[in-house]
Amino acid sequence: MAALPVYRWRLAPDGYATRRQLRARGLRPGGQDVAAQLERPRRRGSLVAYLYRVDLAKPVRPMTPARWAALAKANAARRTCPACRRDVGYVIPASLGMCVTCAYPE
Ligand SMILES: [Zn+2]
Repeated sequence: MAALPVYRWRLAPDGYATRRQLRARGLRPGGQDVAAQLERPRRRGSLVAYLYRVDLAKPVRPMTPARWAALAKANAARRTCPACRRDVGYVIPASLGMCVTCAYPE
């Protein structure tokens, strides 16, 4: 964090945006590190804002019903035993490759 470039308020170069500015454009930092700092001088101390690179930002992808459904389906698949084809209610252990009932029949 020591080598971050610091810009004066309103003098930020193009291609940088604060988290709020990204959000207003439907973007999020997307895991990138803070790229620069903005400093707004004040009588007492200064306000600092963190800048992110717009070209590294990722679009905000809200969970849609379709994405929830896909997620639920994927989770259901992980709970479904390939041997007896039942949703056993827990994730099939990779070490067994099947549900416990199938792996250890009485
Ligand atoms: Zn089974």
